[in-house]
Amino acid sequence: MNPMSLLAAFFVMGSQAAATPQPVFDVHVHLHRGETSAREYSARLEATGQRVSGYGAMWFGGPNHALQGKPDEIRANNDALIALAREHPGMLPVATVHPYDGEAALTELERVAAAGVKVLKIHPHTQRFDPDDARVLALVRRAGDVGIVVLMDNANVLPGDSQKLFNLALAAPRTQFIFAHLGGFDFRFWNILKAARTAEGLFGDNIYFDISAIVALVADSPLEEEFVWTIRNVGVDHVLLGSDYPQYSLEQNVDALDRLGLEDAEKAMISHENARKLFRLDDPS
Ligand SMILES: [Zn+2]
Repeated sequence: MNPMSLLAAFFVMGSQAAATPQPVFDVHVHLHRGETSAREYSARLEATGQRVSGYGAMWFGGPNHALQGKPDEIRANNDALIALAREHPGMLPVATVHPYDGEAALTELERVAAAGVKVLKIHPHTQRFDPDDARVLALVRRAGDVGIVVLMDNANVLPGDSQKLFNLALAAPRTQFIFAHLGGFDFRFWNILKAARTAEGLFGDNIYFDISAIVALVADSPLEEEFVWTIRNVGVDHVLLGSDYPQYSLEQNVDALDRLGLEDAEKAMISHENARKLFRLDDPS
């Protein structure tokens, strides 16, 4: 993605926006039907006047989509998404593999990295794998070696979800992780990071979160204050905004973030600055 095309996305998508909020980077978008979904997503942004500086797009997700043992299907879909991203300014393609495909998964990871992909998404619940499995550790370590950020679901629908992800991230300290949904309604667990980081300086510094969907569920709830406290404890510079489109719209998430009562500077970091740094969006390569 070159900076000019990102800039173009900014202006095109922002053209309908009059008195609207800052542009945001939406890290969590599912485009299940390729080009059609991309058009619907963009149309929704225009209709609501929501500007984006870019968005992370996935072609997969949802129940019955484990994709284990289907490396050819995975490869073809990753390639289709990479091609789609070239046509859509601002789209950051998010690839996937299945960790249990072992060597085939590692090969595909390296292949998409060479094609410029910066993010891999894997999902223990829908892809039916155990984050404790040695093949998962091998995969995420390799992702760190080739400079790919690993996005993993963390909605806590599986037992021990956050605990397993915490230990996975510690075992792969050179890999950057984003745990989606900040632990869901079990977000309280992640306050452990505040204590962990006092142990060895920047311990756990490779753990980022997106607050897609959970922010919309928590805003205006009795949990809101504790959620804000958690965001600050895990580090405002380690939290990203996403929509989880099409389950949630971006404006639902942006509106919810606005209602949390964070400082403007904190909201700017969460909305786009942290993503810009983590995904090296200013880097023309
Ligand atoms: Zn999702």
